[in-house]
Amino acid sequence: MQEVRVRFAPSPTGPLHIGGVRTALYNYLFARKNGGKMILRIEDTDQTRFVPGAEQYIVESLDWCGIKFDESDYVGGSFGPYKQSNRKHLYKQYSDELLEKGHAYIAFDTPEELEKYRKEAEANKQTFIYNCQSRNNLRNSLTMSKQEVEMLIANGTPYTVRFMIPENREIVMHDLIRGEVHVQSNTLDDKVLFKSDGMPTYHLANIVDDHLMKISHVIRGEEWLPSMALHVMLYEAFGWEAPQFAHLPLLLKPDGNGKLSKRDGDRLGFPVFPLFWTDPKTGETASGYKQSGYYPEAFINMLALLGWNPGTEQEIFNMEELTEAFSLDRCSKSGAKFNVEKTKWFNHEWLMRKPEVEVGHDYQQWLKDEKNIDTNLDFAIKVAGLVKDRVNFVKEIWEQSFFFFEAPTSYDEVTVKKRWKENSAQTMRDVAEVIRNIEDFNLANIDATLNNWIEVNGLGMGLVMNSLRLMLVGAGKGPHIGEIIEMLGKEEVLRRIESGIKALG
Ligand code: GLU
Repeated sequence: MQEVRVRFAPSPTGPLHIGGVRTALYNYLFARKNGGKMILRIEDTDQTRFVPGAEQYIVESLDWCGIKFDESDYVGGSFGPYKQSNRKHLYKQYSDELLEKGHAYIAFDTPEELEKYRKEAEANKQTFIYNCQSRNNLRNSLTMSKQEVEMLIANGTPYTVRFMIPENREIVMHDLIRGEVHVQSNTLDDKVLFKSDGMPTYHLANIVDDHLMKISHVIRGEEWLPSMALHVMLYEAFGWEAPQFAHLPLLLKPDGNGKLSKRDGDRLGFPVFPLFWTDPKTGETASGYKQSGYYPEAFINMLALLGWNPGTEQEIFNMEELTEAFSLDRCSKSGAKFNVEKTKWFNHEWLMRKPEVEVGHDYQQWLKDEKNIDTNLDFAIKVAGLVKDRVNFVKEIWEQSFFFFEAPTSYDEVTVKKRWKENSAQTMRDVAEVIRNIEDFNLANIDATLNNWIEVNGLGMGLVMNSLRLMLVGAGKGPHIGEIIEMLGKEEVLRRIESGIKALG
């Protein structure tokens, strides 16, 4: 069997959309599953769309996701260079080869002329297609004499090389996800392969490089499905064996049917990029999953299931499990709707599975950075462990645990109304005495002593505990009260009860 070689081939025109990350992920999983190679190729032939910093952004994003490459300009490989602008010298011979074989022709039509034809067609409610319907009436090497063409070129007249789409052909292709795909050649454009600036277009460079890099499977987004017929015909024209194709379904907005865009993210408050991004020209920024507090494991897990399903009920997968379970025939044809809540849920699930020391460490750091609070790792681990089942992100732990770090300065009104009764102050004075007398101040002792005291004195459990919680937390929430008491320590607990009684009377 042919060696599996796949590539992720982004154009550095801006930050990498999460749809692009998913394409990279599926390529990576497919390569690993089949013992193949994963290649990173930077497709930067369109110099007008080049954005500084975008390539670095792409590389850092994929690295954060844990998507690794076997070959690239960064890790090396024997098919390099892997950036198309550094392969510039390679492409012209292939464009010449197609000209010689009669599969391509030279066209002199200027952008202004083409625009004029487009407008004229539009006015007649038609679309202008540069192909068998029109090419014999346009300014190209099919309609001009050889001398005329040579003279224009010698004079430095700008020209492009166009692929000659065969007339009246039914192109039948196979897509690994979509099955048989049919295209009628007369609906296709004679696409430009080589531009007047001396650079190949995406189509030529992409095919030439896939061939030279011995790519076996082209796995890419649905937006490239309309180019598949052209690509297949290019392989045919060169006499090369075409790779197998798989076109992945679109990622759709959470509400409605369009493609998921940055605007949807802004509107509904979620990132559509893996990392934070600042546009170098406009200074405009975009949020990223990493900086929003997502774990890469959760991000990848969520993306993997947008357009693929394992055929079982399992939802939580790490990269090894994904590799094991992945196959292209379980990818869907129809678009996958992005789900913000589900995305958060994945982060929650991964937070629950993280080693407690990692979560504790992250929370310790968060406290330092956001609240300027210094705390020791053990304490941070313990706090995080007590409340993590109620949060989706490390940054949300504070909301559930602030009372471990600061005494209440106010008392939640609704809780006071509900829980603070006439005799509560006296009960709290009594409970303070009980707590003061606990010698071995550990959870088991605290729980046993309080329970026993409540029982012996015939006091309601809820009544005492809820008031006590109000004293310690300032609200009606928080983990088990005994844990709070133990972690705050005797002195702090007594201080808070005293202040609470003073405040509520
Ligand atoms: N450079 C193209 C892109 O930016 C690659 C498409 C392909 O994989 O063929 O998506």
